[in-house]
Amino acid sequence: MTTREHHHTELLATAPAQVHEPIHLSPPDVGETEEAAVLAALRSGWVAPVGPDLTAFETELAQRVGVAHGVALSSGTAGLHLGLLGLGVGPGDVVLTSTLTFAATANAIAYTGAEPYFIDAEPTTGNLDPTLLERALARLIEAGERIGAIVPVDLLGKSADYLAIEAIAAQYGVPVLADAAESLGASYRGRPAGSYGRAAIVSFNGNKIMTTSGGGMFLTDDASLAERVRYLSTQARQPVVHYEHTEIGFNYRMSNVLAALGRAQLSRLDEMIARRHRLRCHYRTLFSGVAGVKIFGGESDADDNAWLTSILVDPQRTGWSADELRAVLSATSIESRPLWKPMHLQPVFHGARGEINGVAERLFAQALTLPSGSGMTAAQRDRVTAVVRAFLEERP
Ligand SMILES: *Cc1c(COP(=O)(O)O)cnc(C)c1O
Repeated sequence: MTTREHHHTELLATAPAQVHEPIHLSPPDVGETEEAAVLAALRSGWVAPVGPDLTAFETELAQRVGVAHGVALSSGTAGLHLGLLGLGVGPGDVVLTSTLTFAATANAIAYTGAEPYFIDAEPTTGNLDPTLLERALARLIEAGERIGAIVPVDLLGKSADYLAIEAIAAQYGVPVLADAAESLGASYRGRPAGSYGRAAIVSFNGNKIMTTSGGGMFLTDDASLAERVRYLSTQARQPVVHYEHTEIGFNYRMSNVLAALGRAQLSRLDEMIARRHRLRCHYRTLFSGVAGVKIFGGESDADDNAWLTSILVDPQRTGWSADELRAVLSATSIESRPLWKPMHLQPVFHGARGEINGVAERLFAQALTLPSGSGMTAAQRDRVTAVVRAFLEERP
């Protein structure tokens, strides 16, 4: 810690409005490797949109995830949208998804004209609860409804229970499109996240485990599904010189320059994941003696990419709430946030149907996500630690 930062910590109680260098939740971790890659792509002349970095990025990332095909897109959301369209989802269909997710998952379902149907969470991981999924499917199919797809979400980098989910999906003949936006680099039962389901998407948004500044990839073993998504992502152009169109397409392709950035990030993915794991360990130690506080996601981090670290605060036992700690961190420009607000509580999805039992709502009330970026310096980590320690000491 620098002297200046020491000074700040001491002044906390008296001068909360003091200016601090902000520490963000999960900022992009880019440096010279990325700079060189982007510059090389620019100088190669492959600026207009497709090019060799794009193709190589698709191959390398698909290989990393262990699937046959990758289609690089402008966002993870675009991947969900086209993936659903590729599976034939449209108006009149019901798509079952996790309520504890980022709005992008539910939005993409809405883009297709299908109805999102929200499933509550398992208490440990916050991921889609297979028991509730099965109950919902049985009820909906009994009522004669058409189920377009199941979209499980791997919350904060821990895989959903695909063994159970895929068995249920197979039993009812419904395809699974995995929202692995947060779980690139994680694994589940010895296989990489993103390799489960008929297809999966990952995100390279600026806050994710690796970034292309903005982007995503559609991943599948199904060659015709990958071709369909690729075709839809480039305005559904028929392969003729005059651009013949027989259906509505989208402009969702990733650019070659951003793919170069993605390749550089992919070369550092393991190192960045290792840094996030070290941070997770640090937070485990920091909160280990605090009754009523748990690290969200369970005891083991082995299969996790440790994208974000959240704590669960039981205010009955701690005497303080997650939001109180958030406010104190925020006063020194340290960003922390609640978990995603469940979709069934969002005004925009008011009245949406679902299988809800209150778990997601409780997790939302009790969780606080702490700064988790792989680019976080030791000094920044120490500053967060000092503020948390001071907070805890005032509340014995
Ligand atoms: C980030 C995210 C997305 C969307 O990815 P973008 O690349 O930002 O469009 C979708 N689902 C989840 C769960 C996410 O966290």
